[in-house]
Amino acid sequence: MSYVCGHNRERHFPAEINIHFPGMGGLDKPSVWVFPRLKVCLDCGLTQFQMAETQLTQLTEGEFTPEAKSMAA
Ligand SMILES: [Zn+2]
Repeated sequence: MSYVCGHNRERHFPAEINIHFPGMGGLDKPSVWVFPRLKVCLDCGLTQFQMAETQLTQLTEGEFTPEAKSMAA
């Protein structure tokens, strides 16, 4: 999925993002670190990135795991 804002001043930046699971149940789950390249529109701030399959799996498994478990890669 890709969104287009209509501007054309996009730059790519390396980044690290720590993703937390939502809600009270998310407090007991380990967060997931991802290290994407961000595509940032320097006019409006719209930012997009794509996660690696490993991190997607961690989010999917964590979403459906009621108790905390280690997700360290
Ligand atoms: Zn824009």
